[in-house]
Amino acid sequence: MTKPYQRPAQDEPVWWFVISGGELLMTEAKQIPHGLLEDLPLPDLNEYKTVFIGELRERHCYLVIADYGDTNFNAVGEFLSVRELIVGSDDELFAMAARAKQIADFLATHRFCGRCGARMQAVDWEIAMHCHSCQHRCYPRISPCIIVAIRKDNQVLLARGKRHPEGLYSVLAGFVEAGEPLEQTLIREVMEEAGVRIKNPRYVTSQSWPFPNSLMIGFIAEWESGDIRIDPFELEEGGWYDINKLPRIPQEGTIANKLIKRLKAEIDQERNS
Ligand SMILES: [Zn+2]
Repeated sequence: MTKPYQRPAQDEPVWWFVISGGELLMTEAKQIPHGLLEDLPLPDLNEYKTVFIGELRERHCYLVIADYGDTNFNAVGEFLSVRELIVGSDDELFAMAARAKQIADFLATHRFCGRCGARMQAVDWEIAMHCHSCQHRCYPRISPCIIVAIRKDNQVLLARGKRHPEGLYSVLAGFVEAGEPLEQTLIREVMEEAGVRIKNPRYVTSQSWPFPNSLMIGFIAEWESGDIRIDPFELEEGGWYDINKLPRIPQEGTIANKLIKRLKAEIDQERNS
């Protein structure tokens, strides 16, 4: 097993996920730097914290933590939001980039113990921070969040969040609260945000969403009762949309897009059978 702080061998081509200020180093072609260390114009990585974070297409992946505004990587490319990788719809690559970003954020925010205030040390055989004064150990925090496409006849419930760009509509989403099973989160969030009751939720898929540390857990559910009453604190507007006359929805590669497309495929299939 490769340990977190092990270095790659000189003759081993690897993926380099370099994070600076929450952004990821990408080449001009919006690719992740990949290959032998000697073939890439990277600075001396002995100067940087480097963490083994997993494998992608049978190659090892390393996280490199750069300083904010670090110019030593300019010969490789520039630091951009991990969101840039959603466009390509390469789910595996996006997931690893999400992991790199979240681990970098975890290490940056757990330098001191939350219980006793002593300096924490990185554990050398797993990705964790440990306090040797009080034995408190922390792991990267993941915040589960439900996201749900709700169906009523041949329509889907879409709403525009206050932070969404003008004209962009999406399905409902919300954080799981402490002690809450997902089934309850679904019912509570949909009731709070849209005032309707749902039934028959079905799990469809999930997606790591590292802004900053969500895990989106995607469902399709059916409307049961109630008229839409949009929560004015969270949403601008919302309603039922014909699945074949959709407004602008989140881009391909996002879980919201996948859920809406899945629902559309199911409705189309029903019509044709
Ligand atoms: Zn402590």
